[in-house]
Formats: sequence, structure tokens, C-alpha cells
Amino acid sequence: MTDEKSSPDATEPSAANTVKKPRAARSATAAKARPKRKAPSVDNPGKVLKRPRYSRAETNAIFQRFHADNPVPEGELDYTNAYTLLVAVLLSAQATDVGVNRATKNLFKMADTPEKMVALGEDRVREEIRTIGLFKTKAKNVILMSEMLIRDHGGEVPPVREELEKLPGVGRKTANVVLNIFFGQPTIAVDTHLFRLGNRIGIAPGKTPLDVELVMEKIIPPDYSLHAHHWLILHGRYICKARKPECKRCVIYDLCRSPEREALDAVPEIAERVAGWVAQGKTRADI
Ligand code: SF4
Repeated sequence: MTDEKSSPDATEPSAANTVKKPRAARSATAAKARPKRKAPSVDNPGKVLKRPRYSRAETNAIFQRFHADNPVPEGELDYTNAYTLLVAVLLSAQATDVGVNRATKNLFKMADTPEKMVALGEDRVREEIRTIGLFKTKAKNVILMSEMLIRDHGGEVPPVREELEKLPGVGRKTANVVLNIFFGQPTIAVDTHLFRLGNRIGIAPGKTPLDVELVMEKIIPPDYSLHAHHWLILHGRYICKARKPECKRCVIYDLCRSPEREALDAVPEIAERVAGWVAQGKTRADI
């Protein structure tokens, strides 16, 4: 029987395991052993800062850049009225805007009011949206939500968050999107992009989407609160992406304090150019 304590493997290092591996092999082994760091997601916020990384003036400068670069940002979901916007946003959970637009093109031609949607029926709605994720549950919710709008709101979409949140399939984020885009309220809908940005660049850190939303409401300068949600979604979707931020194309590169910011030799030309527009009181629309 082998005494574990006297075994060379358990106590004394043997000659074999004291031989150092070449540096490259060591770092390859270490990289294998090291757990991969996940990009912050709604389920995994990572380490959360106690407070934003930016002063009021710095936050203002960030939104001045977003505004100068894209003075009137627009959402990418197709809709024709408050009701079709509500349906489109409800369908967009775990689906791309392009995919939702493809599915709703025909659906909205047949049904652009709650009454017409209920008349169309759940089976037909399910058939029309079958290309997007969770289509069975979503079709059911579209019909239940439409019935409730008819019953409780005369077929109109109420411009009140609490009322919207009572509708089947409608959560705080969906309600905030509709209130912002259609009713012009300065709400912040925290989706996966806003949640990541809030934590990655440290502009509005928080453990949950609601935490991030409440910090954003506090720190976003009033002049920019109406469009902040769009700017941040577009920035997260196309520039400060989940897997790898494209810092070379970032208009706030020199203002960003994220530890994930790529070290470049110089400030990207786009950031310099947009900073120039801000200094001159201009936007892309004036150029
Ligand atoms: S510099 Fe990089 S990390 Fe910072 S906001 Fe821009 S893309 Fe994101």
C-alpha cells in the first residue's frame, strides 16, 4: 500500500515535474486553465462598479458626441402606429429587428389594430411569425394583449407604463420602448446592449437592468434624455459590440474609460471629427 504522504507525487516535487516548460507552452496551458471571461450580459453583469466612472461634465461630453454624430437617431423596427409598434417590440425579444420586420411585413398588412388581430386569430398569427424565436408564446401573447387592449382601453395603446406592464407579454423594457418611441417620453429601455454599456464603459453601472435604468435616468443630461436610449442601443449594436468593441470606429474613444478600450496609437479620426463638430456647435446634419 502506498503512503500518500510519502509518495513523490503528493509531497516532494520529482525531477520530472520541476523541469520548467518553455514559456510559450506555459502560457498556453495557463490560458487553457484560465476560465474565459464572459461579456457582461443581463444574467452576468460581472463586477459592478459602485458609481459611474464619469463626472457630470464628462457624461455631457459623451452625449454631445452621440448627438453631433447622429442628431435624430431612429429605431430599426417597422411599425405604422402605436399598436403595431407595441406588437413589434413584443416580438423582438430574443429576435433581431431585421427578423421581426420580415415577419411583420405581411402581418401588419392584414392586422394593424387589436380588433383586426383578434379577428385574424392565434393560429394565423403563429403562422406569420414562425420564423422568429418563441413564436408560439408570442402569438398567444399578441392575441391576449389585443383582447385586453379592446376590453380595457377601447383598442388604444395607453401611454402609461403601469398600464402597459399589465398587458400579457409586455414588461418594463417593452413599455419603455413604446413610451419613448411613440409617445416621446424620456424613458430608458435597458436591453442587453444598454446593460452591457452601462457596466463596460461604466457610465451607469448596475447589477440588474432596473439598476442600470435608474442610474441612467439620474446621469443623462435632460437635453439628451429623449434620444439616449437609441444612441446607446446603436452604439452597443454596431460599435461597442459584446464580443469585441470596435474602438477604432468609436466617436467617444478619447472620452471612454473602459478597461476594455483598445489601446490605439492615436485617437480615431471619427472621434476627432465629431469632437470638432461639437466644438463648432454643428452636427452631421450640418455637414
Ligand atoms: S472606446 Fe471601445 S470600449 Fe470604449 S465605448 Fe468606444 S468601442 Fe466601447
